[in-house]
Amino acid sequence: MRMSRLSLIALLAAITVSLTAQSQPAPQSTAPPPPANPKLDQMKRDVGLEVDGMQENIQKMNDTVFSFAEPGFQEVETSKYLSGILRQNGFTVQEGVAGIPTAFTARWGSGKPVIALGSDIDDIPQASQKPGVAWHEPIIEGAPGHGEGHNSGMPLQITAALAVKKIMEQQHLQGTLMLWPGVAEELLGTKAYYVRAGLFKDVDICIFAHVGAQMNVGWGDTGGNGMVSVEYNFKGESAHAAGAPWRGRSALDAVELMDIGWNFRREHLRLQQRSHDVITNGGDQPNVVPQNASVWYYFRETDYEHIKELREIGDSIAKAAAMMTNTEVSSRLLGSAWPQHMNKTLAETMYANILSVGLPTWDADDIALAKGIQKELKQPEIGLAMQLNPLRGGLDPEQNMGGPSDDIGDVSWVVPTVTLGYPANIPNLPGHNWANAIASATPIAHKGVTAGAKVQAMTLVDLLLKPEVVTAAWDYFKNVQTRTQKYEPLIRPQDQPAIELNRDIMAKYREQMKKFYFDPTKYKTLLEQLGIQYPVIRK
Ligand SMILES: [Zn+2]
Repeated sequence: MRMSRLSLIALLAAITVSLTAQSQPAPQSTAPPPPANPKLDQMKRDVGLEVDGMQENIQKMNDTVFSFAEPGFQEVETSKYLSGILRQNGFTVQEGVAGIPTAFTARWGSGKPVIALGSDIDDIPQASQKPGVAWHEPIIEGAPGHGEGHNSGMPLQITAALAVKKIMEQQHLQGTLMLWPGVAEELLGTKAYYVRAGLFKDVDICIFAHVGAQMNVGWGDTGGNGMVSVEYNFKGESAHAAGAPWRGRSALDAVELMDIGWNFRREHLRLQQRSHDVITNGGDQPNVVPQNASVWYYFRETDYEHIKELREIGDSIAKAAAMMTNTEVSSRLLGSAWPQHMNKTLAETMYANILSVGLPTWDADDIALAKGIQKELKQPEIGLAMQLNPLRGGLDPEQNMGGPSDDIGDVSWVVPTVTLGYPANIPNLPGHNWANAIASATPIAHKGVTAGAKVQAMTLVDLLLKPEVVTAAWDYFKNVQTRTQKYEPLIRPQDQPAIELNRDIMAKYREQMKKFYFDPTKYKTLLEQLGIQYPVIRK
C-alpha cells in the first residue's frame, strides 16, 4: 500500500500515542468507528500499563528461553520454566498432555469464555548464534539455536495473561485463561495430537502468537500449505560390498531410487506443492551393503485432499523403489498440519488493537543491527518495520501458490482461532537460519514482545467484555469456514507423537549448552552475560 508523506506522518503520530489513540480514526480501516465504551477503553489502558510494568520480566523470560535453545520434543527446561512461572501465578498446570512429555496446559479462572493462548517453543538444529552480532558467530558450533525466534512467543502470552488476570481479579470478571505451548512446531509434531486429546474441547476462542518482522493479523485462507511428514524405512540384507555384493540387497539403493523417482515426478505435480527430504539413515560404511536406510519427506499442499494425494504418490514411489531393489519398505508419520484458516471476527477485533498499539519505537542501535545483518546477507538495507500493513484477509484459495506450514492449522479447524504476528525480528532474513536468531535476545525482541503482549491483552479484554464478539466468531466458524469443509485429521488412530526426535542432538550438546543458560541473578540481560556490546556490526 502506498501512502503520502502526510498520511504517513499522521499514522506515525497515531501509533506513537499508543493506547490513547484508540478513539482516533484508524488510518487503514474503512469500517465505521465502534460505539464509545468508556469502561472497555479504560480496561484496555489498564492492561497496557500492566504490560509496561512487566518490562523486566519480559526481558528475563525471553532471554532465558533463548538460552535454553531446545529443538522439538526436547523442550524440557523451557517447559519446566514456563509452566513454573504460571504455577507461581496461580495457574493449575497439567504436564505431559496428549502423551507428549514437554507439552502442558495451565489454566486459571472460571466459567466462560474459555480462551486458549498458545505459541511455539522449539528451535532449529545447528542455528546456535550470539545475539546482537551481525554475522554468523555460534555460541556453540553445531548446537541448536532459536533461528526462528520461538523463544519470545510464550513470554508474550504469559505477559498478556498475567496483565489480564490482574484486571479480571480487580473487576471480578468471569472467564478462563488456558496457556499452552506449541511443542515441536518445526516438526509439525503436536497440535493434531492436542486436538485428538481434546485440549480444545471446552475452548471458545484460541489466540495464537507467532514471531515475525511485522505486527499483523489475517483471516481466511492465510496462504501457505498444510502437510504430512513421513519417514520411509527400507530394509534389505547386508553383505561384503566387495567380496559378495550379489548376496546383498541395498536399502540405500532404495532410498536413492525413491528420491530420483520423486524428483522426476515433481515436474508433473501441481505448482502449489512443496516437497523436500533428508536422508536420515544412509548406512554405516561403504564396505557393508546397507541393510537399513531411511528417507524423511515433507509433503505440502494447499488442502486436505491434495495433501492426502501427495502422500499416496510418495507411498507408491517408495513401494516401487522397494520392488526395484528387492527390499521391503515401511513408513511412519512424524508430523502433520492442516492448512490454516483464521477467524474473520477475531482478526478484525485484533487489528483494531494493533492500530491502537502500533509498532515499537526502535532506536538507532536496533536499526543499526538490522541494517548490519541485511548488508551481511546482501539484502536491501531497509532496517526494521516502520509502518503497519493493512489487515490481510479473503485470499482466494485458487490464488494460494503454497509455502510454509504451521500446525496451528489443525486448531483453527476445531475452534475459532487467530494468530498475532508480532515484530520481534528483522525483515528479509532467510528463516530457519542462524540469522533469524540474531535479534531474538536483544531489545528488538523485548520491544516486539511488549507491543505484542499489549495487543493480546487488549484483545482478551474485548473477548471478556463483549460476548457478542465470541458469538460472531462462532457464527463465522460454523456458517462460513466449516460450512463445506470439515476437519478430518491427517493423523490416523495408530499414529503417535514422534517424541524421540532430536534426542541425539540434545544428548550431544546439552551439557555444553548449560554453561550459557541465562542467569538473571548475576546479569541484567543475556547480552551482558555473553559480554556483547549491542549492536556488534562489521566496520
Ligand atoms: Zn514458527
